[in-house]
Amino acid sequence: MSQQDIHVIYGTDYARMTLEIMERTQVAKRLNPAMKIGIKPNLVVAKPASSGATTSPVVVEAVIRYLQQHGCNNIAIMEGSWVGDDTKTAFQVCGYQALAEQYHVSLYDLKTDAFIMKSVGNLQLKVCKKPLEVDFLINIPVLKAHCQTLLTCALKNMKGCIPDSEKRRFHQLGLHQPIGYLGSLLKPDLIIIDAIAGDLTFEEGGNPVQMDRIIAGTDPVLLDSYAASLLGYRPEEIEYIQIAEQMGAGTSRLEQATIYEYDSGQKNTSQFKPSDKARRLAKHIIAKEACSACYGSLIHGLQRCLERGLLNQLTSPVHIGQGFRGKDFSGLGVGHCCRGGSSSVPGCPPTAKDIVHFLESQLRHGS
Ligand code: SF4
Repeated sequence: MSQQDIHVIYGTDYARMTLEIMERTQVAKRLNPAMKIGIKPNLVVAKPASSGATTSPVVVEAVIRYLQQHGCNNIAIMEGSWVGDDTKTAFQVCGYQALAEQYHVSLYDLKTDAFIMKSVGNLQLKVCKKPLEVDFLINIPVLKAHCQTLLTCALKNMKGCIPDSEKRRFHQLGLHQPIGYLGSLLKPDLIIIDAIAGDLTFEEGGNPVQMDRIIAGTDPVLLDSYAASLLGYRPEEIEYIQIAEQMGAGTSRLEQATIYEYDSGQKNTSQFKPSDKARRLAKHIIAKEACSACYGSLIHGLQRCLERGLLNQLTSPVHIGQGFRGKDFSGLGVGHCCRGGSSSVPGCPPTAKDIVHFLESQLRHGS
């Protein structure tokens, strides 16, 4: 498979499609049985793939079966869920514990992994050791929307390969630059995108949109550019795609790509338009370096208030993020960082339930 190739297979038999795309792209030619193989799904939260948040275990199972059919048995699934969520619970809830037992593959919670300090551009980034140590890294992201970066797919999925402290720092650095830089440090050997039914409203699921396709390639910048175009974005609109390209992680020049499509008769021809719900709700937020888990839960909280007819009682925006740490301000705050607000919900991150409860009680009594 050349770096400029994008392979897309359509349909609803996701296990067969995954196996077929691996056959068609002749992955086996690049494998040998002695290889240590790492699989990096997206298990950002402990929610099943049907929510649109996490990689389908059906896809990962097909990848494991293909690898084992070709004599590769040294396989590990590795992930670190987002700050505030427990990876081991995600392994259980998302079906990966059962998968690991059935196929005798290892599961690594990267939150407990050691890290190596890597230099890239003007940054020093902490990267977990396990994904750096494998001989063949397979990135299996979900194609979905993200309320802070618009899109999350191949490049952003690598954020699960850094410690939690570094995930927080990524937000202090504005997300785009470190995600782009990480793309040049952790280069997958193969990317298989689960574009079955990602959430096109929020990163953390609840609004899955049926897209019914699996996409494969080796260049994360090119695949993310393709994924962006599927959602109606130009690659230039996703800042981290541009930064990753500048750092040599790949190319965003879709016009130079060769796109191979299989089973086009089964193509779901709907337009996949990301919802602008998150963007509309974001007007009620003042965010400075907010972590994804915190921010996503606040968006959900605001959505609940909207549904319950309370949002119009919110007279000033809600503060959130590490940029408010140690500062006093007038207004509502979310999380430990914003405890200097007139009123705030504790936690780092607070649970979505606590945020909903906090906002509801504030708005019912006038914010
Ligand atoms: S409270 Fe602050 S550090 Fe904790 S998750 Fe929220 S934004 Fe991040």
